[in-house]
Amino acid sequence: MKINRIEPQGYCQGVKNALDIVNNLIKNKDDELCYSLGSIIHNEHVIKELNKKGIITIDDKNKTRLELLNDINEGIVIFSAHGVSPIVYDKAKEKGLKIVDATCPMVKIIHKKLSNYINLGYECIYIGTKGHPECEGALGISNKIKLVTNINDISNLNIKNDKIYVTNQTTLSIYEIKDIFNTLKEKYPNIIIDDKICNATTIRQEALKNQPEADLTIIVGDNNSSNSKKLFEVSSKIAKRKTIFCNDINDLIDYNFDGINTINISSGASTPSYLVDEIIEYLEKK
Ligand code: SF4
Repeated sequence: MKINRIEPQGYCQGVKNALDIVNNLIKNKDDELCYSLGSIIHNEHVIKELNKKGIITIDDKNKTRLELLNDINEGIVIFSAHGVSPIVYDKAKEKGLKIVDATCPMVKIIHKKLSNYINLGYECIYIGTKGHPECEGALGISNKIKLVTNINDISNLNIKNDKIYVTNQTTLSIYEIKDIFNTLKEKYPNIIIDDKICNATTIRQEALKNQPEADLTIIVGDNNSSNSKKLFEVSSKIAKRKTIFCNDINDLIDYNFDGINTINISSGASTPSYLVDEIIEYLEKK
């Protein structure tokens, strides 16, 4: 079996940054309890390893970061790479928790820009995925920020202000967002468009759009990882390739590889490289 590793792979800068912060904390902490507010990054293998090293992950898909904070009453609270809203930050401080902030610097820039534009009297729009922690953090900056989750939401916007600013979640599809921006521009010609899809997301999606011919494409990532799920979408819908998504090698054991001679493999920005290596080793023997 021929395998094409679609580069880049491995952790993005934001994930590396978050994991360095947490690993330093593990090395240097005394007996204090360390809680992660939500998953530090979206990969269950990484979270399990950190939990073994003493990080207690408080997570529940149906709860907001603010609600999750109710379960933390002492010690250290770690904010995940996705960032938190100011209200979560303030509540953690009020509770007397020590804060370790592992927010990706790209996300922090978005928070700052949204605050600045609100202070300047702009109507702000945020394009994101409802319920995703990065989206929750950004919307929490002000209840005036309007969420757009897809192109159809634009028809519901009724903004009278001439000053409008739009930005977005960092891990969306670079192909879908173009249409959303164009439709917003048609409706609001003066709108300031600030595309904040991060570089790590962009280059992985472009690489998949331009991937070489193969019988199958495999995306390795976590079901909760937004950037990994978008890689799947780009490969299947934009590049129109037969694509499967897997968390790790176990998801492939029962897959029927009959007639498949060439495979392209890509992975999300929070997927550890060893998961991809294991899969490649397994496939090369087939
Ligand atoms: Fe930061 Fe982009 Fe990585 Fe998210 S995917 S952590 S925004 S660099």
